[in-house]
Amino acid sequence: MNRLTGKVALVTGAGRGIGAAIARAFAAEGAAVVLAELDGAAAEATAREIANGVRGAQTLAVQTDVTQPASVRAAVEAAQRAFGPVGVLVNNAGINVFADPLTMTDDDWRRCFAVDLDGVWNGCRAVLPDMVQRRAGSIINIASTHAFQIIPGCFPYPVAKHGVIGLTRALGIEYAPNNVRVNAIAPGYIETQLTHDWWNAQPDPQAARKATLDLPPMKRIGRPEEVAMTAVFLASDEAPFINASCITIDGGRTALHHE
Ligand code: NDP
Repeated sequence: MNRLTGKVALVTGAGRGIGAAIARAFAAEGAAVVLAELDGAAAEATAREIANGVRGAQTLAVQTDVTQPASVRAAVEAAQRAFGPVGVLVNNAGINVFADPLTMTDDDWRRCFAVDLDGVWNGCRAVLPDMVQRRAGSIINIASTHAFQIIPGCFPYPVAKHGVIGLTRALGIEYAPNNVRVNAIAPGYIETQLTHDWWNAQPDPQAARKATLDLPPMKRIGRPEEVAMTAVFLASDEAPFINASCITIDGGRTALHHE
């Protein structure tokens, strides 16, 4: 349980869902964790819950909007003041913007890219100078299987997630000589509030849920903890030669042509 001892990690969107599970898993493995989250109260609550549940956990909640470079920089500075230099960044904050391309508003497009792609870049830019200087760092970007495959009517989310993979590969190559690794995780369906919101937005939420559960070859969807385990691995010293890469967590769904 000490795979991340001595590391300082910052996780965006850590108030709930996949980000909260990653923050919890990191703390359980000995990292000091900063929960950088738009909803300050949710960040505080999750940080408290981790502190109560994990013996010796070091957590800090910082209200952060990943769309604002200054806000992300302030979170990184708060992390440094509290625990020392940030060695692990998880760019997890993300939103679903699912629309029809031709009826989508300009605001939908901008909102999607502001969080799902600019937000990832803002995080990278805030930690990279220090990581490069210290010649140590692991950045983990939460992409999606939408980064490789398209579902009609889900525009422009997959465009932004394709960009996350591009950003991951570009920065991974750019800073490989400085021993900074940049990787992505591409989850398939994972049961979080985001997924429930999507089901509830469908005309028949129960049918939508059932259709989702039937999709993966394993006939279930993933749990946030299953994404967190891979994030721990990529953040740890067990993955020193994994860089500019992406690990898919979807129970095999993207390998399936059709049944
Ligand atoms: P949730 O909506 O459950 O959690 C996302 C968190 O990010 C929320 O706490 C949200 O805060 C926060 N957030 C949103 N906007 C910002 C912002 N501007 N700045 C800081 N924090 C913000 O989502 P998931 O846990 O399901 O998703 C996490 C990531 O995983 C996302 O990048 C998503 O695209 C990706 N993903 C999820 C999948 C799934 O099936 N769940 C599948 C594939 C990828 P608030 O509540 O205040 O909005």
